[in-house]
Amino acid sequence: MARGRWGIAIRLILALTLLRIQPAFAQEPVRYTVQPGDTLTRIAARFGTTVGAIVEANRLVNPNLIYVGQVLLIPVSTPSPPFSGRVHTVQPGETLYRIALRYGTTVEQLMALNGLRNPGQIFVGQLLRIPEETPGTPSAWPVPFRDIRIGLTPVVQGRVFSVQVQLSQPAALEAHFLGLIFPLAPAPEGGEGLVAVPAMQAPGVYSLGVIARTPDGQTVQVGLPVQVVAGPYGRESIRLPPDRRRLLDPKLLRAEREKVLAACAPFEPERRWQGPFRYPVAQPEVTSEFGTRRSYNGGPHSSYHEGLDLRGSAGTPVYAPADGRVALAEALVVRGNAVILHHGWGVCSGYWHLQAVAVQEGQTVKAGDLLGYVGNTGLSTGAHLHWEIRVRGIPVDPRQWVEGSLP
Ligand SMILES: [Zn+2]
Repeated sequence: MARGRWGIAIRLILALTLLRIQPAFAQEPVRYTVQPGDTLTRIAARFGTTVGAIVEANRLVNPNLIYVGQVLLIPVSTPSPPFSGRVHTVQPGETLYRIALRYGTTVEQLMALNGLRNPGQIFVGQLLRIPEETPGTPSAWPVPFRDIRIGLTPVVQGRVFSVQVQLSQPAALEAHFLGLIFPLAPAPEGGEGLVAVPAMQAPGVYSLGVIARTPDGQTVQVGLPVQVVAGPYGRESIRLPPDRRRLLDPKLLRAEREKVLAACAPFEPERRWQGPFRYPVAQPEVTSEFGTRRSYNGGPHSSYHEGLDLRGSAGTPVYAPADGRVALAEALVVRGNAVILHHGWGVCSGYWHLQAVAVQEGQTVKAGDLLGYVGNTGLSTGAHLHWEIRVRGIPVDPRQWVEGSLP
C-alpha cells in the first residue's frame, strides 16, 4: 500500500517535470544566422532566452566558438517576456524585408521576435515588435569600425556575399578573403561591396579580413570567421571533335585567360547596375549550369563551367543584362567572338561564341542594349550563348544575379 502511494507520487512528479519542460519547446525553435560581432550572450538577450538554452538546443561543446554564417536554433519560450521596444504597424505594400531594412534589422530577427513562421504571413495593420537599437556596439569593434554586416547568406561556393561596414571616421576599406583582395566602395559613413567565393573552394570556415586605412596612415584590421557551404553543382563529360582538340593547348588557354582577367581587373567604385540583372537573351533556357564539374575527352573533373549556357540558334540577339561599359569586344581563339562588360564594383560579365559583335570597346551600354548575336565561334560544340559574371576575376553563378537583388 505504502509502495503504491510512493509510486503514484513519483509518477506525479515526473509528469509535472515533463509539463514544466515542455512549454519551452511548445513553439518551434527559430533559426538564426550568426552575424559579425554576435556572442551567445547577445543573441540570448535579443531573443529573450538564455545562453544555456541555446547551448542545449544546439548541443554546443564550447559556447565561445560560434562563427559568422553558423545557423543556430533559438528556443523561443511562450509566453514571451514583457516587451519594451518599438512597435511598427504594417502598411500596404510592405514586406518583412522592407521593414527589416527600414529599422536596420533582419527578417530573421523580426520573425523570431514576433513568432512568425513564414516571412509572407504579415498583413496590413498588424503590429510588429521591432528589436531595440544596438547603438554601434562600441566595445565589439576597434576604431574606426562601428559595425560590419555580412549579407546574402548563407555563403555558398561560386556565389557572392556582401560586406557592409560602418565607420566612425573616414577610411579606405578592403575585404580580404581566401588570398584575394576585394576593395569596398565608399558609402555614407562607411563602405560596401561584394566578395566572391571560388566555385571549387572546399566547404569550411574561412577568415574574412576587413581592413581600414585612415587618412593619417593608420591601418586597422579585423578578422571574422565565415562559413562557406557547398553549392548544388553537378558533373558532366564533354567530347570535343578532333579538329577542336588542338584548341586545348595549355599555353593558348593561359594567354587567353589572362586577357579576360586583365579586361575584368580594374575596380570602379561606382556601381552601374540597379536591381537584379536580366537574362541576356529574350527566351532564356539554361542548357548547362554554372559550376558543373567538367571532364574533357575522358579526363578528370578538374575544371568547372565558369558560366551559364543559354540555348539560342545562330543569330539570336544578345542584350546587356545591366548598365555597363564595354571593356573588350574582339575575336578570341577559345571563347570565339567575345564581349566583356564592366558594371562597376569589380563586377564584369562575358558573352562568348558570338556570331557577330555589335558594340565597340569603350562604349557605354544600358540594360537591354544589343551586344551581338548568338553563334558557334571558338571552342564550342554548337550555337549557344555562354554567359559569365566575374567579381574581381572570380567566376560566380549568374543565377544569383537574375534571381535576386544584389547587394
Ligand atoms: Zn559555357
